[in-house]
Amino acid sequence: MAKKRKKDQNIFPWAAGIFVAGMLLFSPKRSQARGSVVYDDRYSDFSLARSTTASYATRLLSDIDKIIVHHAGVEGQTAEDYARYHVNTKGRPGISYHLVIEKDGLAVIGNPLENVPWHTSGENERSIGIVLSGNFDETQPTPAQLRTLELVIRDIRNQLPQPIEVYGHQDFAATSCPGDNLYPLLNQFKL
Ligand SMILES: [Zn+2]
Repeated sequence: MAKKRKKDQNIFPWAAGIFVAGMLLFSPKRSQARGSVVYDDRYSDFSLARSTTASYATRLLSDIDKIIVHHAGVEGQTAEDYARYHVNTKGRPGISYHLVIEKDGLAVIGNPLENVPWHTSGENERSIGIVLSGNFDETQPTPAQLRTLELVIRDIRNQLPQPIEVYGHQDFAATSCPGDNLYPLLNQFKL
């Protein structure tokens, strides 16, 4: 599905974006966004499941030095599924990523960058976790997903003055994540 994109719109900080989103109308164009607010064509806050009692630790944005890319490892699931799984099944404060990039290229905000969700053991305090929906050991990421990933990485680097390197989960753990078909594509985003 093709979407119009506002490439030069600065969406950071996300917390402010979510606040602004709260003042915008619900999008009638995006059926999967029913009941949620849409900040712009690329970023959406789906009001994902989160704990009412627990919250992730926070950090300074200056602590961040990397982006770690993941895949969902399953087909057919979306941000709302991951959030429900992390909160209801795993008992976590919220979805364990900062951002989800869906098959159609929509980026769903999971946490503000100040939050420290648990996506890569030993690296959470210093990294931004981005997951792409799909299982890229078996399928290919969509062109829309790769385009959004590129734009998101650019946005993050524009927002944070320090160098931000891009890695795959498998650089830090014994896992195939983010999949054989996505991992080599991350080279184009290296500093
Ligand atoms: Zn992973």
